[in-house]
Amino acid sequence: ATPTALMVGTGRGAQLGILIKGPEVLESTRRVDTVVLDKTGTVTTGKMTLLDVITADGEDTAQVLRLAGALEDSSEHPIAQAIAKGAREKVGALPPVEQFINIEGLGVQGIVDDHAMIVGRARLLADRAQQLPDELESAMRAAESEGKTAVAVGWDGRARGVLVVADAVKPTSAEAIEQLRGLGLTPIMLTGDNAAAARAIADQVGIHEVIAEVLPADKVDVVKRLQEQGKVVAMVGDGVNDAAALAQADLGLAMGTGTDVAIEASDLTLVRGDLRAAADAIRLSRRTLGTIK
Ligand code: ADP
Ligand code: MG
Repeated sequence: ATPTALMVGTGRGAQLGILIKGPEVLESTRRVDTVVLDKTGTVTTGKMTLLDVITADGEDTAQVLRLAGALEDSSEHPIAQAIAKGAREKVGALPPVEQFINIEGLGVQGIVDDHAMIVGRARLLADRAQQLPDELESAMRAAESEGKTAVAVGWDGRARGVLVVADAVKPTSAEAIEQLRGLGLTPIMLTGDNAAAARAIADQVGIHEVIAEVLPADKVDVVKRLQEQGKVVAMVGDGVNDAAALAQADLGLAMGTGTDVAIEASDLTLVRGDLRAAADAIRLSRRTLGTIK
């Protein structure tokens, strides 16, 4: 395409709410055949709320909320923010935290009220000899089968409860997936969340292929593996944990509503955080470069 055509294409992109880093980006956009989508904040709103607290036999709901809420108040994670907010609404002020540690993609730990706390994936608690009792295991599974995220709470060597949080699928996500498919692209969901929740959300928007329970550092390897299979990969994401995968992809698309790190790692920014703009971008590049696939 001529430089003029690329410039016109870039300008048209801006009108559609797509910020394009450089005119050459439109060239890689055209060849994409696979779209990898992050779940939380990309397909869903990322605005989580605390829905439910389930406690192990003999544990106090308010105490589980107070200690878990206090710990999560030190984390920026959307799950953590929802838990801290929900806890504050129900039990009031939260105690301070010492020795806070964020365990990427798994959870958080720290000391609250002299208790050694962990909040996060069941696996994280199990790894530290805090096996979940059956009633908590089944509560987690039930929530996850509905597309919700359940995190476990433990302290002083025992699992004490489960907190259920969820966000909602963006109203435009299903239509966006249909449009991407119409353009001949294969959508794949990639998430750190559990497989059952990921599957439930994927079903709501019409994504068949799901890669779940992927640690933040491993998202980039999933993209590499697809590329080694000969796929030309677009990755859409919003989080710090998506940045390496966004940079590795043949085309990185960041949600404008997401983190700066994700935006900087990407070739395109979907300003309004509307997934339909991803389909607009593909259409625009094909049109600009004068090819109809
Ligand atoms: P995603 O890929 O959906 O953005 P992450 O990789 O950030 O998810 O997190 C993966 C999983 O790790 C979460 O679904 C949750 O179970 C657990 N997790 C991560 N951070 C926290 C936290 N601060 N509190 C509780 N659980 C957490
Ligand atoms: Mg995300």
